[in-house]
Amino acid sequence: MKIVYLAIGKQTFDIGNSDIKHSVFCSYDEFVESGIDPIGFILECDSDTNGLSILKKLRKSLKTFLHPIFLHSLSGEEFEILSDGTVVSLRDAFEKAETRHQNAVELKHEQVEYAESTMLRVLAFLYLRIDRIVKPFQQWSNPYLYSYPLIDILSSDNQDALEVLSNLKKHRFVRTVDLIDRVHHCPRCNYSHFNFVEVCPSCRSFNIEQKPFLHCFACGTVAPQERFLQGNGMICPQCNAQLRHIGAEYDRPLENYNCNDCGHFFQEPDVMAHCQNCRKKNDPDELVPRPVYSYQLTERGQYAVRTGELEGVYTLLDELQNINPVHFSYTVDWLLKICARHSEELFSVIGIRIDNIPQVHKKIGRYRLVELVDSYISRIRETIRSSDLTTHTSNDVIWILLPKTNTPNCEVVLGRILDLESLTQQDEGIHLEFKSVSFTAPDDMVQGEPGEQLLSRIEEEME
Ligand SMILES: [Zn+2]
Ligand SMILES: [Zn+2]
Ligand SMILES: [Zn+2]
Repeated sequence: MKIVYLAIGKQTFDIGNSDIKHSVFCSYDEFVESGIDPIGFILECDSDTNGLSILKKLRKSLKTFLHPIFLHSLSGEEFEILSDGTVVSLRDAFEKAETRHQNAVELKHEQVEYAESTMLRVLAFLYLRIDRIVKPFQQWSNPYLYSYPLIDILSSDNQDALEVLSNLKKHRFVRTVDLIDRVHHCPRCNYSHFNFVEVCPSCRSFNIEQKPFLHCFACGTVAPQERFLQGNGMICPQCNAQLRHIGAEYDRPLENYNCNDCGHFFQEPDVMAHCQNCRKKNDPDELVPRPVYSYQLTERGQYAVRTGELEGVYTLLDELQNINPVHFSYTVDWLLKICARHSEELFSVIGIRIDNIPQVHKKIGRYRLVELVDSYISRIRETIRSSDLTTHTSNDVIWILLPKTNTPNCEVVLGRILDLESLTQQDEGIHLEFKSVSFTAPDDMVQGEPGEQLLSRIEEEME
């Protein structure tokens, strides 16, 4: 277990009497030739450009993309996005890398599997950095203004980071965290670089001018002030009235734009967005708005990467004729409110989580696991009544809502479900293990607790 210290043109850590096992290299190629597989890297470089290019090589390589890479005396937004932060000493780097290494050992994917799947690479990277937020990087020179450098680096060539993210989102392996910006794209070429030009609302020419205007009360003419000027005074070009007193004979109208091409007078110019790439002249309404988000790994994503099961055994749990989780917690909330007023309106909630899917997966393989979960789901369906509601949340809890069910009856149902555990026994000496929790109103009610809070509170009891 070694730390590799890539000190390119600069070496400021004193490594003379460090008891941490390490190797120092002065170039990336030298490190590659050594064949060493360290538990982490420290990168230091005399130039930011070189430093960034080496950081990208390490993140791109299938051998090192998951490794912790710490920086010393390098900083900047892209460095932050692609690295694992800075360290102050070899020991600091070693200690941080060691924890990460233990988690990495849990992930037993072969390099060929990583080579095949961008999703797996991204998920594994995030799994080892559970609090990491995938942030967009803003750069004026980028055609779309924002990019996701981390996803770009982890993606295969020709793959679009936005597509990778939308795929991960669709599978609920990641969730959006913050809305960072809303960018407008050209409907023809998709670029986001525009020049906004004020134009004449009548002929669309941008050859317009802002001028002082006058309004003659006698005949109602509105025209640029210059057309009223005659000698020292002002005379209406239309009716020849002398204009001397503002407010009595004339005033200044709101119109103060004049189109030099078609002669139109107007108050407010229109605005056009000229695409700087394909030159299309867009009406602002035509631009395609796109939200820019930051993203984070979900528990479902964690499961997917632990098992390599990207298509999801858990989708089977959706076969319970579930209602959606929001609707479910809303219904619980509603029943709680009724029960608070009429204590005879009792009900129960049961939560179940299969606790060892990854282990069972490892023992019996994917196909048998799918069959096993499938048969388990059918049995649960037989156990519950048609009036009971079920839902399956993204963190893989099955909730069952049992109306008009008191504590003893709820225990009977839960007992029956837990009995199913023994029926899932496999020849390999392994079976599905359940964690469960139950709640009955009004017996277990906490006064004033909303449904959503209740569910998350009792879910914690299953941890
Ligand atoms: Zn015009
Ligand atoms: Zn006039
Ligand atoms: Zn364009």
